[in-house]
Amino acid sequence: MIIDTHAHVTGPMEIYEYFRGFSGTSGGGSRPGKFEMTDEQIEASLVEHLEEVGGVGTDLQIIGPRPWAVPTGDRRQALVMHITQQINDMIARCAKLHPDRFVAIGALPQAAGVPIDVCLEEMDRCVNDLGFIGFKINPDPGEGALETPDMGSEYWYPLYEKMVALDVPGLIHGGPFRFSREPELGYFCTEQTIAAFALLRSRVFKDFPDLKIIVGHGGGYVPYQVGRARAFRLNEMRRDPSLESFDESLRRLYFDTVLYNQESLELLFKVAGPDRCLFGSDKPANGSVIDPATGRSLNDIKPMIEAIPWLTDADRYAIYEGNARKVYSRLSVTAKAV
Ligand SMILES: [Zn+2]
Repeated sequence: MIIDTHAHVTGPMEIYEYFRGFSGTSGGGSRPGKFEMTDEQIEASLVEHLEEVGGVGTDLQIIGPRPWAVPTGDRRQALVMHITQQINDMIARCAKLHPDRFVAIGALPQAAGVPIDVCLEEMDRCVNDLGFIGFKINPDPGEGALETPDMGSEYWYPLYEKMVALDVPGLIHGGPFRFSREPELGYFCTEQTIAAFALLRSRVFKDFPDLKIIVGHGGGYVPYQVGRARAFRLNEMRRDPSLESFDESLRRLYFDTVLYNQESLELLFKVAGPDRCLFGSDKPANGSVIDPATGRSLNDIKPMIEAIPWLTDADRYAIYEGNARKVYSRLSVTAKAV
């Protein structure tokens, strides 16, 4: 079975146009009502998605919100909450319409400069009422501003506590990028790398040994920079011998395979270990473009993994299915197909 752990649903575009009308407004106009949509509208928005994903042999996708779905840089918490709830409701309806193809993770109503506690109630609703099995975490809700500390900070502890209590993992994934000097391509990987390095040098996994975090897009630049990271850690260990090695720290995180390049995947598997990597394709998205060299879409990742000669059958099972089942422990409770 192939479980794709990195995917986003769009839903009917009208919902985003509706919300867009409220960003930049103030006063009474900043309180949108509920956006009504029919099952037929949702189904129509899923046709191409389901065809593309089915076409590469994926059995089940763990779907979350589009990265830009929630305007986390907005300080109006009530507006952010309202949009987040409606996005989560829409994702839940997609999963309900196709329980054999989709299982959902939720958006968090994060807002720049606001304590993370604002997310907790919505997390309960998503897991207990909507059957979600995890969350997408935006590591930089301030969109380049400094209001939100890095993910190694105690600012995030109420979120981690709730994730452990609900037994749900979090996928670190970049969000909207209004203030970034680099748009989506570099911004997502950069913020995911900043989040991962911050977690790796923090006490977070000592304080929350059961916390499960997946770093999106193959861990950003972390695998490529592992040599320098080892050097920094070894120097720190000379001052404080109680510290663990960087490689030990690295094995506390999980990573997905959204890399679109066999050599990059090999490096990830070698550095992090196949037992820490979850199959993910980000399908459909910009990687759906056809690679002229192969005639396949760049986010058709299974053939790249199949071509790595040193992976064992057990490694491949872990990457395609086993690790997802372990990390998303609520999967077996919720998904119809597993
Ligand atoms: Zn993504």
